[in-house]
This record gives sequence, C-alpha cells and structure tokens, in this order.
Amino acid sequence: MANPLTQDVLADPVELTRTLVDLRSESREEKEIADCVEDVLRQAPHLSVDRLGNTVMARTELGRDQRVVLAGHLDTVPINDNFPSTVQDDLIFGCGTADMKSGVALALHLAATLPDPCYDLTFLFYEAEEIESKYNGLKLVSDAHPQWLAGDFAVLLEPTYGVVEAGCQGTLRVVIRTAGKRAHTARAWRGVNAIHAMGELLQRLADYRPRTVTIDGCTFREGLNAVRISGGVAGNVVPDACELEVNLRFAPDRSEDQALAHVREVFDGFDIELTDSAAGALPGLTAEPAREFLAAIGEEPAAKLGWTDVARFAALGIPALNYGPGDPLLAHAPDEHVEIGKIRDGAATLHRWLAPRTNAE
Ligand SMILES: [Zn+2]
Repeated sequence: MANPLTQDVLADPVELTRTLVDLRSESREEKEIADCVEDVLRQAPHLSVDRLGNTVMARTELGRDQRVVLAGHLDTVPINDNFPSTVQDDLIFGCGTADMKSGVALALHLAATLPDPCYDLTFLFYEAEEIESKYNGLKLVSDAHPQWLAGDFAVLLEPTYGVVEAGCQGTLRVVIRTAGKRAHTARAWRGVNAIHAMGELLQRLADYRPRTVTIDGCTFREGLNAVRISGGVAGNVVPDACELEVNLRFAPDRSEDQALAHVREVFDGFDIELTDSAAGALPGLTAEPAREFLAAIGEEPAAKLGWTDVARFAALGIPALNYGPGDPLLAHAPDEHVEIGKIRDGAATLHRWLAPRTNAE
C-alpha cells in the first residue's frame, strides 16, 4: 500500500489530522500507522530516526543549546461507529480526532516542515497509551532507551483545547482495616463490631479539608476520598473485619513518600497498607524553552489534575506539559471531534515558538 502521508498531506496539519484518523490504530494495532510515520520521517534528511516496537523516535542534531521533546501517542480507544473520519463545517469527526491525532498531526507536520528549528527537537510517536501502563510506548522507551527522552523541556500534545496544562497531580491508594470480634448478634455484647469502628475513620474523612496549592501560577486541588468499603459476614453476625479503600490525589509539591506520610498522619492510630502510588509532576515552567513557549501561547497555564505521561518526563528531571488542539471532554466519546480552527491555531503557535530566530531578535 502506498503511504498516505504524502508531502502534500504533511504540509497541511488539517489534512494530516484526517489522514492519521483514517489510519485505524487501536491500542496494540499501531504497526501500520507506525510504519507510515517512520517511513516519512526517514525521508527527511534533517532527522535521525529510531524505533522500538511501534514507537518511532526522530530527532534533529543541530547542536543547539537546548532540546525540546514533542510527544504524542499513536493509538486510540476502540472505534465506536466513528471511523473513518467525516467533516461537517469546521469540525472533523472520528475516533482519535481529539485524543490525539490532531496533536500527533501538529508534531508530524513540524517534523516534516521545519528543518532548522531554534531548539534541537526530538519527536516521539508512541504506542499503547490508552491501555495498561506495561504496554505504554513511552514507558518502554524510558526503560530501554531513556536517552531518547533526554531534553530540557517536553510537550505532550494531548487534548487541552489549546490551553497549557502544566504538571500533574500524584495519586496513591491505601487500604485501612479495622478489626473486631465475631459474635452472634443475639449476644452482641460478646463481640466487637469492626464496621462500627470505621465510624471514626469516616468522620476524619468528612472533616478533612484538602489543600489548594499554587505552583508556577498553576492551581492544584487535592482530594482525599473513600472509594470503596467492605465488611460483614452474615445477617446475624457481629463482623470482625472491615476494609476501607482511600484515594489521595496530591499536588506535585509532595513526593510519594510525603503523601503517604500525610495519609498516615490523617489516619493516625489505624492500620494502613499502601496499594498503589504514582508521583505527580511539577509544572517546571521556569526553563527557558518553557517560558518562550508560554510567551508564544500568550495565555496563563492551568494545572493538570489527572495523572498523565508528563510524569514520566518529570521522573527523568525533564519539565513537561500538555498542549493540544483537541477538547479533552470529547476524548473517548462516540461523537469525538476536533475544530479545524484549533488545529490551525496550534500549528501557527508551534511554528512561532520553534521557527529559527531572526537576527533582529
Ligand atoms: Zn490521549
């Protein structure tokens, strides 16, 4: 099959978005799209290209002082009567239009059309973001070739509707157990009720006042919530065990250890087991390429409250943020679509930021 990513398509980020959407690529079925992307990148003399599985990396080697990483996942969630794409007025409908082939299109368009950017650029088009993290192409690269991710600043082109979303919150889950003593409910005084013992814990949760933290102008809102409770033996038994699962979403000024210590403090006196934890990421907007990027956008950043792949860059000491033309509220929806104007705006912004500096500046 001829590669649909022709030079004409690459030159137009809107056409490129449509063409990428029409290359079906549900998670773990990214071979065809990765082949097409790798093929066009290898045709660009200013890029050196490498590949791991269905993740393609391309970079310039221009000897610039700073390196910027632009990354996007090639996979989509399963199609849902929304393939191939359709266009209505200023909207492109289809699976992956917002999340995130319009973002991938911006990066691929830049890779193909900007041979002399003002920073060295690394492009990562990666597989399997939408499923379990063990398949995530960015994770596989950070394990096998962390040097591919090296840079001074990274932009993930995930849907943000043209707004900069910086950093991300961390998340951890704990299980808290209360113990009692079984007895027949007809002689309840002989037992100790483990469910009743949860009352104190639930009260602490109800009384808890989560922090709001502003870092680099981004406001993060923490949350501490019971997400599951279970206990009970039978309709006539005083229960001897109860289990509560609690999720803390924490601002990135806390490390995972500090976040756990905080949870232990809140539930002092109870038996706590950590079951899951992922670090957040500081916005890191003070790096020079980040400041120039914000200047090109001309808007204040917002905090990212969910966990995203920017944390994988943060773990390597690389500040990263999300910026893409799609609307995050439309991600994974059957009527997923992207505004053509947002794609054009995004391409213009990235060109303004990364175009070679003239002597006048
Ligand atoms: Zn996505």
